[in-house]
Amino acid sequence: MSTEGARNAQLFERAQRVIPGGVNSPVRAFRAVGGTPRFIRRAEGAYMWDAEGRRYIDYIGSWGPMILGHGHPAVLEAVQKAARDGLSFGAPTEAEIELAEAIIRLVPGVEQIRLVSSGTEAGMSAIRLARGATGRSKIIKFEGCYHGHADALLVKAGSGLATFGHPTSAGVPPEVVQHTLVLEYNHLAQLEEAFATHGPALACVIIEPIAGNMNFVRASVPFMTRLRELCTQHGALLIFDEVMTGFRVALGGAQSLYVQAIPGFAPDMSVFGKVIGGGMPLAAFGGSKDVMSQLAPLGPVYQAGTLSGNPVATACGLATLKEIARPGFFDALSARTRALTDGLAGAARAAGVPLATDCEGGMFGFFFAPELPQNYGAVMATDKERFNRFFHAMLERGVYLAPALYEAGFVSAAHSAADIAATAAAAADALR
Ligand SMILES: *Cc1c(COP(=O)(O)O)cnc(C)c1O
Repeated sequence: MSTEGARNAQLFERAQRVIPGGVNSPVRAFRAVGGTPRFIRRAEGAYMWDAEGRRYIDYIGSWGPMILGHGHPAVLEAVQKAARDGLSFGAPTEAEIELAEAIIRLVPGVEQIRLVSSGTEAGMSAIRLARGATGRSKIIKFEGCYHGHADALLVKAGSGLATFGHPTSAGVPPEVVQHTLVLEYNHLAQLEEAFATHGPALACVIIEPIAGNMNFVRASVPFMTRLRELCTQHGALLIFDEVMTGFRVALGGAQSLYVQAIPGFAPDMSVFGKVIGGGMPLAAFGGSKDVMSQLAPLGPVYQAGTLSGNPVATACGLATLKEIARPGFFDALSARTRALTDGLAGAARAAGVPLATDCEGGMFGFFFAPELPQNYGAVMATDKERFNRFFHAMLERGVYLAPALYEAGFVSAAHSAADIAATAAAAADALR
């Protein structure tokens, strides 16, 4: 093997000496699928090039933010201009108001918003605010949903419904998750029982409306309808974690899809990240004026950040939102994503391989299973061996899919019809 040909392996080796596992976020290490992670040198449009000079069609898009593709000219220009004006001030700027106004305009359920630097921070702050605003401690989350790595959210279901969760990470004391109840996604009877038992103590329910951290699972309309009713009846706040789905499945996020099916629907609070930063560290949480006014400096719930509303990240987010708000953007993106899942499904049919696919806007999922799973257990029961072989076969053919069967995929505006066709052809070849 030439030196160039072994470059990813060499870098991985070197990285592991100074960075735990060689990566700064675990999924990048390819542990779920095995093999050597690709070290990326640069990216442009729908493509990334690794340290060996190999080109990949990128369906990760930095795990969601790169909805315009890499290096969109208007975004780069906005970032460069902002950087020249100053990297950080620790004082308010007009651009932060503009970004808040843009988000509020696009997501009708949000009246006020606060900017932070990561989805983890936004989710953690939203939970604290929900607890502060209601004066209650208990929270519900769903198995398979990820809301960042705040201690209280690193939890899996306990042995029974009446019991609270167990930590999923060392370093999280059981007491820290003793108020977190973990329920099965889309399980109506469990939801009813949880509210019947704990209703008056519940501060909030946090949910990924389309769960992208277990590949792609939609919360059913009956489930969401009942969840909204129960939260309202019991005075618990419904928090939509739209870090992945916000400005990705539709301009108004997943909540705009539920409004179509459930008249008057809105969550009480929303959490955003990924696309709103356009590739820079930026996230946000928002809700009604009533709830948001409980935050410092107005109210008793403390929350702060040295780099919150960073001017360069804010400029990047604003430029991104401006592009995706253009008429027809989501129609075109949805059609392209649908063409991809149709292509994958067609390749699987031809090869006689059971494959179920789903997509919304620029987000998609596929499962080696006869039908779409409705919860985490069903996702994890899909064919892992086949997924891992498919992942590597696609990577060898220059298609970079998420390296784990429980991760969603992303299409950007930069993916051309030719890229989609090439991907479908690679899939047909790989599945054969
Ligand atoms: C990515 C993600 C987060 C965490 O965001 P980070 O910026 O990685 O901290 C939270 N919730 C959901 C739904 C996500 O997809």
